[in-house]
Parts: sequence; structure tokens; C-alpha cells
Amino acid sequence: MRHLVWFRADLRVADNPALYEATAAGCDVTAIYIDCVGQWQQHGRAPIQRDFLSHNLQALALQLAALGIPLTVLSADTFVEVPEQLAAWLEKHPCSALYANREVGIDERRRDKAVQQRLVDTLDIRVFNGDCVFNHGSLTTQSGDMYKVFTPFAKTWLAQLRATGYRLLPVPDAQGQPLSVVEVELEGTRVSSHAWPAGERAGAERLALFSGQALCDYGEYRDYPAIEGTSSLSPYLALGVISPNQCLAAIEQELTQLPMSRGEAGFVWLNELIWREFYRHLLVAFPRLSMNRAFKPDTEALQWSHDTAAFDAWCTGNTGYPIVDAAMRCLNQTGWMHNRLRMIVASFLTKDLHIDWRQGEAYFMSRLIDGELAANNGGWQWAAGTGADAAPYFRVFNPTTQGERFDGNGDFIRRWLPELAEVPAKKVHQPHDWLDTQQLGYLYPKPIVEHKRARLHAIAMFAALKDPPDDLKDQEAR
Ligand SMILES: Cc1cc2nc3c(=O)[nH]c(=O)nc-3n(C[C@H](O)[C@H](O)[C@H](O)COP(=O)(O)OP(=O)(O)OC[C@H]3O[C@@H](n4cnc5c(N)ncnc54)[C@H](O)[C@@H]3O)c2cc1C
Repeated sequence: MRHLVWFRADLRVADNPALYEATAAGCDVTAIYIDCVGQWQQHGRAPIQRDFLSHNLQALALQLAALGIPLTVLSADTFVEVPEQLAAWLEKHPCSALYANREVGIDERRRDKAVQQRLVDTLDIRVFNGDCVFNHGSLTTQSGDMYKVFTPFAKTWLAQLRATGYRLLPVPDAQGQPLSVVEVELEGTRVSSHAWPAGERAGAERLALFSGQALCDYGEYRDYPAIEGTSSLSPYLALGVISPNQCLAAIEQELTQLPMSRGEAGFVWLNELIWREFYRHLLVAFPRLSMNRAFKPDTEALQWSHDTAAFDAWCTGNTGYPIVDAAMRCLNQTGWMHNRLRMIVASFLTKDLHIDWRQGEAYFMSRLIDGELAANNGGWQWAAGTGADAAPYFRVFNPTTQGERFDGNGDFIRRWLPELAEVPAKKVHQPHDWLDTQQLGYLYPKPIVEHKRARLHAIAMFAALKDPPDDLKDQEAR
């Protein structure tokens, strides 16, 4: 009998537990991907990511064909249709077992539950962990709960790594003669992702380049958006084109061993991979995070502003704060933004404009090529002060000094704000007086808020909350 591998956010043949286990059983293997364009829209995901998905599916089809495994791409509207679609397909193409890797979002988990209920009598369903080094729910406090603070989570994560290491699976053996490849072309609105070569080979090359050339200097350069100091692997990790285990293997290969503590070469990057896992484990433990709700329930009472003009100025990069505007225009034009800038613009939206983090989260999702719920929600709630282990509410980034610190010469600002090209470096973070003296004031908007006052207002908003409950137990009705 045949085994079916259902690909979702794990578009790779190497280190793919579901694919590996399905082929290891020695049966015929076939693969499926179910595209849900309506669900994609409901989740507000970006057209550039959809294009990247389409190209990565094509690359996956090629890789699978070389292994003698056919890939069928089915189309449904939303997840609701998936159980029936799958059942109908299985009637025509009987299989004895279904293999898949787990996903973390609540809609994906509900879909899987519905599939399980629909197909449980028909075939064996086996699910694996393919998106984290350690499975969701496997790292807990002594009382068996998920950590709500990053540092102890990271400590346990590292202890687990020391104890068991990580498991890196090879590409499975070919199952037969190479097949001819189907053409994959996803429908729906797309924006070209040509700047990001698709496929796991391209992802692996980028990983090798980063670990060979920039890993050891990452701690020093990662905060400067004008230089390429980070890996740019997020689009590949978000769709599962590469795996976190492969990232660990690359570190180990470069440094001969994995760094286990702060101060060791490569640790700062490893720590970011642990943040990624922290947010994914949190999403599974606290379903309310997938439902537009704050991690800290008391912060639901915050009185956010509904100033649509201010939100529009933020989205389009017209706030009058150069580092914020350069970052947003970069996002709008490329579909990607540097982590330091994500923190700055998220702080600006929530703490200077006092606009609900959910609006920023949704806008990011609609633009990012690497948009993924766990990291995006985690990042936004961290910046807004509503999340697990969030920035303290009184810590408000000053957009001008952030610009001065991390883009000292204004190179990044000038790249994205050509109207400031002539402004001297010393003036570029507050260019208005200089522009006025040159009679060029019309070129660039005046600041839409005064940072000092806005900061005090943000602190007052939080201070007005009733005593935050110590116990942040999940109050989710599951
Ligand atoms: C407001 C906000 C929104 C964000 N939205 C997303 C998102 O939708 N998708 C996304 O992948 N990341 C998101 N991040 C996290 C981070 O900004 C990006 O992962 C990073 O900028 C990607 O660049 P890189 O691949 O060069 O990262 P590197 O610095 O090279 O890090 C390697 C990998 O670690 C992971 N990672 C790094 N930093 C973080 C972090 N703070 N939280 C979680 N994972 C991390 C990513 O998978 C990244 O590719 C967000 C951060 C903030 C503050």
C-alpha cells in the first residue's frame, strides 16, 4: 500500500521527518500539497510570500520527482474544505498511511483535528516535529507548564541540546526512476519574489555563505541595517525550505562545535534561533495568541488611538522620523525588514502613535516575505509591552537616537529616502531645520508627533491599567 506525505510549511526533502519516515517504511510514497487561497487571504498573508511559495513548491516538485515521488497540488478555498478534499482524493488514490509535520497556528491545528476525525477509520495518521529542534510542549517548567520568560526557556533548551543533541535527517533514498515534473503555478495575487531564489538548494547556499562569512561577526554587526550582518534566512525558515536543525549543523560545521553559552563564537545567532522556538512553543501553549489576543490579558484594556491618518503615515513611511520612514519604505518595496528596524517601527507605532499592535502585526503580515504568525505576533507583542517577556512598558525607543546609534552616517536612510540624499550626516536624523534653510522643507514631512510627549502618554496608558495580575495563566477557552 502507498504512503501519503502531506506537505505544508515544510517545503524540503532534506531533514523532513514526515517524508523520511514515510519512505523508511519501504512502501510506495506519493506527496500532496493543498493550496487554500481563501485561507491565505483570511490570514492576510503577503502577495510576495505567495509568489515565493509558488516557486518553492515548484522546486519541491523537482526535488521529489528526482526521488521518484510524484507531487499533486490540490486547490481548496479554506481549511474547512480540506478534510473532504483529502477524503475524495484518497478514494481515487488509496493510501494506508498519512504522514505530516505539525504546524503551530490554531487554524492549522483545527484543520488537522478535522482531518483526523474524517480519516481516522480510513488510514493511519502520523505527525512529526519538523519546525523546531525540540518538539512543542517538550520543554516545560518543573510543574509541567510552558515557560513565560525567555531566559529559563533558553536554559532548558540548551540543556536539552547538551543532553540529546539534535537529529538531522538525510534526503531519503530514491523511491524509483526520476519522474517528469508537474508545473506548479499558484493562483491569487502575487508580487515577484525574484530577489529571493527559491528552493532548498538556494536556502542551503545562503546558509553556507552566512555561516562561512558572517556567523562569527554576527554579534558585532547584526544591529546595523546598512550592512548585511544577518543571515536573511527568514523567508526560507518561514516556509520550511530549510530547517532549524540544518542551521545548527551549519554552525557546528563552521565552528566544529555548538556554542553553549554567551561569549562563545556563534552563540548570539544560536540565541536568535532559540527565540524563534520560544515563540513557536508559546503559540502552541497559548492558543489565544493565534486569536488576536494579548498574552497579558490586562493589556486588553489599553486605550489605543484610532487615528487613521497617523496609521497611514506610518504605513507609507511619511512620519517625519527618517529611520522609521526608511524602514517602512524598504518593507513596502522589498517585502523584508531588518530586525532592529522592526523593533523601532513597532515601538513607534504602539508607543509614539499609540496605535494597537494588532494593526501593525496585520500590516507586516500583508507585506513580509517571511511573515509567520509566531515570530510576528511575538515581535509585535514584545514591542507593545503586551507579550510574554515583553519590553517593559516604560522602555520606549527614541526613534532619533536609535537612528543615530544604528545608522550613524544615515546610509540606510539615504538609500530609502532619496529626498534626504543631500542632507549632511550630522543632520540626517533630524533634517527639518537644514531642509528649511535650503528652502527644501517641502520635500519631507515634519514629525507627526513629538516623541517626548508621546512617550509620556504611552507610559500613562500603561500606568492607567489596573494592577496587572501576576498569574498570567492562559484563560483561553479551548
Ligand atoms: C515586530 C516584529 C515582527 C517580526 N515578524 C517576523 C515575521 O513575521 N517572521 C519572521 O521570521 N521573523 C519576524 N521577526 C523576527 C526578526 O525580525 C526576523 O526573523 C529577522 O529580522 C529575519 O532576518 P534574518 O533571517 O537575517 O535573521 P537572523 O538575525 O539571521 O536570525 C536567524 C533566524 O532566527 C529567527 N529569528 C531571528 N530573530 C528572531 C526573533 N526576534 N524572533 C523570532 N525569530 C527570530 C528567524 O527565523 C531568522 O531567520 C519580527 C520581529 C519583530 C520585532
